[in-house]
Amino acid sequence: MTETTYRIRGATGDWEVVIGLEVHAQVVSKAKLFSGAATAFGAEPNTQVSLVDAAMPGMLPVPNRECIRQAVRTGLAINAQINKWSRFDRKNYFYADLPQGYQISQLYHPLVGEGSLLIEADEKAGIPADKEIGIERIHVEQDAGKLMHDQHPTRSYVDLNRSGVALMEIVSRPDMRSPAEAGAYLRKLRAILRYVGSCDGNMEEGSMRADVNVSVRKPGDEFGTRTETKNVNSVRFVMQAIEYEAQRQVDVIEGGGRIVQETRLFNPDTGTTRSMRSKEDAHDYRYFPDPDLLPLELEDSFIEDCLHSLPELPDAKRKRYVEVLGLSDYNARVLTAEAETARWFEALLAEGARIQKKSEGEVAKASANWLLSELYGALNRIGKTLEDSPVSPERGAELLALVADGTISGSIAKQVFEIMLESEDSPAKIVEDKGLKQTTDTGAIEAVVAKILADNADKVEQYKGGKEALFGFFVGQTMKAMQGKANPGIVNELLKKALG
Ligand code: ADP
Ligand code: MG
Repeated sequence: MTETTYRIRGATGDWEVVIGLEVHAQVVSKAKLFSGAATAFGAEPNTQVSLVDAAMPGMLPVPNRECIRQAVRTGLAINAQINKWSRFDRKNYFYADLPQGYQISQLYHPLVGEGSLLIEADEKAGIPADKEIGIERIHVEQDAGKLMHDQHPTRSYVDLNRSGVALMEIVSRPDMRSPAEAGAYLRKLRAILRYVGSCDGNMEEGSMRADVNVSVRKPGDEFGTRTETKNVNSVRFVMQAIEYEAQRQVDVIEGGGRIVQETRLFNPDTGTTRSMRSKEDAHDYRYFPDPDLLPLELEDSFIEDCLHSLPELPDAKRKRYVEVLGLSDYNARVLTAEAETARWFEALLAEGARIQKKSEGEVAKASANWLLSELYGALNRIGKTLEDSPVSPERGAELLALVADGTISGSIAKQVFEIMLESEDSPAKIVEDKGLKQTTDTGAIEAVVAKILADNADKVEQYKGGKEALFGFFVGQTMKAMQGKANPGIVNELLKKALG
């Protein structure tokens, strides 16, 4: 097997980086983990707080079935073992955004056990081969509230809207060996969460954040002591934090120091990390089973239902695109990387297959090429995404059908598409209104061919003398003279005939 060979070059030789990620993913659910309060992002502070979330004395938590279901679905999507018996524990600590004085979490008996996910080979990023990254567990826990601090005057505020929202903590094995692998892992995990619909994966809004564990060692040695950089909220920042932290650790060790196990903070402005607290003053959380909650016991039928509710996941989809639709590996990968892209592509393909007489494979190839070059190019240019694309999959399919049945040529299709970006009209209507229909009128094409050849007598001479590459020139001139509307097949045929 080809291994990643990302190395930090130190004075004493090369160092290997070891990375494990703990990802906090906010569960998509209308209500919180143990209360009926709403979870929508961006609401006025303290408007989504039940008495349970505010930790009023005597309030009792009641597990929300939907949150459990989402975590189980996520576990199944990473091929993990689902623990039919799990239990909630109290993790005791004091903080102003945690009115209970403890977080309800799962330490000893998590809901989801061992699983894994596949990161794909990416030569350019330095990942030479597909690699499986182990996932140790997923446990379910409560999120805390949010503190906001004002400087003038010095005041602190607390917003408990987030208090009690369900989180999945997804803990990887220390299986990653480079910033690129960690980036690929996070992107893949985010894609799976979005396909499943269990977390929106929105890192800027904080609904997915990563604690980044990093250590360094000489290749082949035992694992070194790790540091944990908390709450990093973008893929790029995670990669930066690893790069910085690995280099820092090498410098410390080679300078004669030693790495202490500690929690660190990432500064996005400088790309550096700094110490927040060391293990020496680490909290003793005094975990114990929450006496207000019974252990969670799952029925087989519940797990079955979760399994059946899963959509086709990225790995399976990618495989099907290659093996059944005949797409290139690259196109299949790009189209399945995000759930929204695959959804759009499949809508385009379904409509295309419905209105065209061609095979699904042929329609799929043309659809993929058009989506990834024309549509993406245009969306980039006008600063939009597939979600707010001015052209719908149905309209896109209609345009491709006009090319497929010979009504318009590929180059005219580009013109029609430009108009579609700003018009509600169907491509057929645009073609009709602008008189863009491809001409198959042999007589008309023949006349143009004759004129082109007469105007370029010298080139005809060279062509006949063996310079066959000039054929493309004649085709181009003919198409140009006919404003792209000549049927390319007929143009080729007539030119061949005329040139003898
Ligand atoms: P804790 O319970 O103290 O948080 P864990 O053993 O659960 O510690 O590990 C937490 C995370 O740290 C996991 O993602 C794991 O993969 C990672 N990790 C463990 N050991 C190392 C190491 N030596 N280097 C890098 N990451 C590590
Ligand atoms: Mg931990």
